[in-house]
Amino acid sequence: MADNYQKICVHCQRPAVYFDRVRKIHLCRDHLMAFVEGQVLSYLKKIRLPPVIGIAFSGGKDSTALLKAFCRIRSELPCSFLALTVDEGIEGYRQDTIQAAEEICKTLDVPHQIIRFHDVFGHSLDQLVAGSERNACTICGILRRRALEMLAKEQKIRVIATGHNQDDHAQTALMNAISADVKKTFTGLAESSWYTRRIKPFSEVSEREVTLYAMLNGLFRNLPECPYAVSSLRGEVRTLLYRYERDHPGSMRNAARFEEEIRERLGDLFIRDSYQACIHCGWPGSGRVCQVCAVLQEKRIT
Ligand SMILES: [Zn+2]
Ligand SMILES: [Zn+2]
Repeated sequence: MADNYQKICVHCQRPAVYFDRVRKIHLCRDHLMAFVEGQVLSYLKKIRLPPVIGIAFSGGKDSTALLKAFCRIRSELPCSFLALTVDEGIEGYRQDTIQAAEEICKTLDVPHQIIRFHDVFGHSLDQLVAGSERNACTICGILRRRALEMLAKEQKIRVIATGHNQDDHAQTALMNAISADVKKTFTGLAESSWYTRRIKPFSEVSEREVTLYAMLNGLFRNLPECPYAVSSLRGEVRTLLYRYERDHPGSMRNAARFEEEIRERLGDLFIRDSYQACIHCGWPGSGRVCQVCAVLQEKRIT
């Protein structure tokens, strides 16, 4: 970015803070913010939304930026919103981030609801993964999704917005390709009367743009990394995609769009609402026993 310091905004001639390498334009602080918020607004206006939606709010950079963007365009939004947070129960890590999330919601004047693993599963994530820490991220993902669904049901929320950005999409697309996971490409497309619909207003906003947006709003905090985060395929794919993006600007956007195009054009062929009720908890899943109950059973704590 060093050589961009003297550059000026393409819209207003003020000093630029950002260079969009794909569109080859410089943007000042205000116009970068307007771009990010415009992306969110046009995404939301394209879809039919209920009067109230939830924002999955972990307190991390992406979901904080999303919450802020919603607040800044509040008067133009077709819906109202509240923040939904899952407290997984990770000693020495999550208490601080949960507290930060609460403070941000208070500052932004957004209603906030928290659900805790301990309250719904009887144990914290630390207790649930003791002895199988290597699988912590997978286990956490399964349980977090259920907890968020439970909180949404409690709050009568049918649509949840998540902070996934364009880079996340590109990584997922490449990971699905590497693991030949066609099924995952089409996951979540089936309309379900049981599960909430997930929407991703940052899907056309890059990670750099989201990060800068959070920083410009004074919301970027250097949060500690989750102690369970391990070097994973996603990390490798992330590094690879950054290299492609550097050498071939637009790669990230194209990889994200590629999967989106496939979903849009071929989704109907793959949608099978093949859920069946779990014999333990009754929640719809893909087998006799849902993934949540399988995790809890393995720990022999059901
Ligand atoms: Zn400008
Ligand atoms: Zn179950």
